[in-house]
Amino acid sequence: MTLPKCATPPTPQETAELRERYRAERERRVRPEGAAQYRSTTADFGYFAADPYAGEVPAREPLCDEVDVAIVGGGFGGILAGARMRQQGLEKVRVIEQGGDFGGTWYWNRYPGIHCDIESHVYLPMLDETGYVPEWKYAPGDEIRRHAVRIAERFDLYEDALFSTAVTALTWDGDAHQWLVTTDRGDEFRATYVVTATGTLSEPKLPGIPGIEDFKGHTFHTSRWDYGYTGGGPDGGMTGLADKRVGVVGTGATGVQAIPKLAEDARQLYVFQRTPSAVDVRGQRRMTPQDIGADRPGWAGERRENFLRIVSGEDADRDLVADRWTESAALLEKLLPSFRRDGEPDFEAAYEAADHATMNQIRDRVAAEVTDPATAEALKPWYRYACKRPTFSDLYLPAFNRENVTLVDTADTHGIERMTERGVVVGGVEYEIDCLIFATGFSVGVSGVTSGKLPVTGRNGLQLLSSLAEFGPRTLHGFTSTGFPNLIQLGPMQNASSVNFSHILDEQAAHAAALVAAAERDDALLEPTPEAVDAWRATCAEDAPDHEWFHAECTPGYYNREGRGRPNGPHAYPHGAVAFHELLRRWREERVGEVLRKKG
Ligand code: NDP
Repeated sequence: MTLPKCATPPTPQETAELRERYRAERERRVRPEGAAQYRSTTADFGYFAADPYAGEVPAREPLCDEVDVAIVGGGFGGILAGARMRQQGLEKVRVIEQGGDFGGTWYWNRYPGIHCDIESHVYLPMLDETGYVPEWKYAPGDEIRRHAVRIAERFDLYEDALFSTAVTALTWDGDAHQWLVTTDRGDEFRATYVVTATGTLSEPKLPGIPGIEDFKGHTFHTSRWDYGYTGGGPDGGMTGLADKRVGVVGTGATGVQAIPKLAEDARQLYVFQRTPSAVDVRGQRRMTPQDIGADRPGWAGERRENFLRIVSGEDADRDLVADRWTESAALLEKLLPSFRRDGEPDFEAAYEAADHATMNQIRDRVAAEVTDPATAEALKPWYRYACKRPTFSDLYLPAFNRENVTLVDTADTHGIERMTERGVVVGGVEYEIDCLIFATGFSVGVSGVTSGKLPVTGRNGLQLLSSLAEFGPRTLHGFTSTGFPNLIQLGPMQNASSVNFSHILDEQAAHAAALVAAAERDDALLEPTPEAVDAWRATCAEDAPDHEWFHAECTPGYYNREGRGRPNGPHAYPHGAVAFHELLRRWREERVGEVLRKKG
């Protein structure tokens, strides 16, 4: 695949002007303290992360039993791992989840307007297996959460699940060949295998605004929506806001979905924006089973694979999903070598031209949709495509034409300046509000086994986190590590990634279950040799795309560690998810024995 053709390549002068504009817009926003500008929702701010959906958590006796597999995390990663383990015949499968039910990000995020902006027919896993066909091209959050529950029910994962429970430590018992799992509910049970599926963006974060604790009005984070205060539900109808002045901080993928609903229901809405999102066309519509070929067996797997091939730059005979993700795939994943392989004579120039064309289209759309010229100007994104996560909405921009909606641009003050008892101060102006909603995203890398919150002690007292800090990621295919037998990690590290991450998780879950099945068959432990781990590290380093040049020129955000560029290391398989999945399939057929180690 080559880059999309753009109608008119920019002149050298236009290119120079645009680069200069991008540089200036980045400078306006970079903060010297980087990610330290945020506050975590722990300690004094822990109430921002409390579970508003679980109700009163029933007391239960601590567990001291044994299971075949313990799975840490009940989002799609954990659910799919559980389902695939069941398909391999494992009986005692226990998922441990901090939320009150299955669903992960779709359990926590229930904000008004919530949808997945990846097509439902490729995003929802196990559609073939469950016979479920989503009605809309982009599914609402609640439908996705109910699908997560559907899979968990289908594979009997409720039977042994522990909800409202956090795993506090994992310790390998070399004599018993088991993991000891301890939790914050006093459990101390044993598991032959442990799978970690703790997600990457799970802890809500707050901006470190001076005076945040002085505000006397109501506040909450979008991932813990307070419908008790707003009334209504994810479809809107928030009657509690009819007499309220509401502020929302943050205009990322969440803000773009929630703001149109808030605009409909609040008496007055102030949108405090630091960097505008690139808001592309969404094209939500109903789709019949015939539209998507759902009358044939295997349709969902085929469609999902087709989407992955296109966004990974692999050949595909047609584009089944045909939306702005697939149309912009080359810009989205330009760093993958597969996008350069056709011998594009001048890749950089072609990329820059295509990028300008797409971003100009997105900026022109703002001008066409937003009537007030100053507001339109402030809503235009001045950076390259995918510097920030692309967003898709046909409702967001028109919301700014409403009389009750005011955009407050905070770029020159690097965000909200401070808060007072009554409201928010930007540029010396105090905006009095009754309620402030933080659509300010999530801390990166603070959950799970790589964060220190979940200490993992392997063979001979080896600490997973110290090993990671000292040597960097050392895994075979991202899943297993020397010194940590029968521990399987899911996630993007030394693995593959893609915009459709539920697909990646499903492949990971299938691989994890195949590893466990192989170990069971041979009565062996799962543990790679140091040589296999070194070889995989070298594979990840070979051809690793250089992200630095791209991220160094982007406006700050969590993609580039708040403007500091991205660490450039052998942290992912460099040839894309399609090639990675093929590699895993072949490895399972021919070489799975390499990860099996005799007990004793
Ligand atoms: P983001 O981190 O993407 O956005 C946070 C927002 O808060 C940004 O607009 C940021 O501005 C703003 N912000 C932070 N601090 C301040 C401050 N001091 N003053 C003013 N503004 C501030 O979080 P989201 O929750 O929007 O999205 C997180 C991720 O969740 C997405 O990237 C995506 O992966 C996923 N998601 C997926 C969806 C889907 O449909 N599949 C839907 C929603 C989310 P700035 O940009 O300047 O830092």
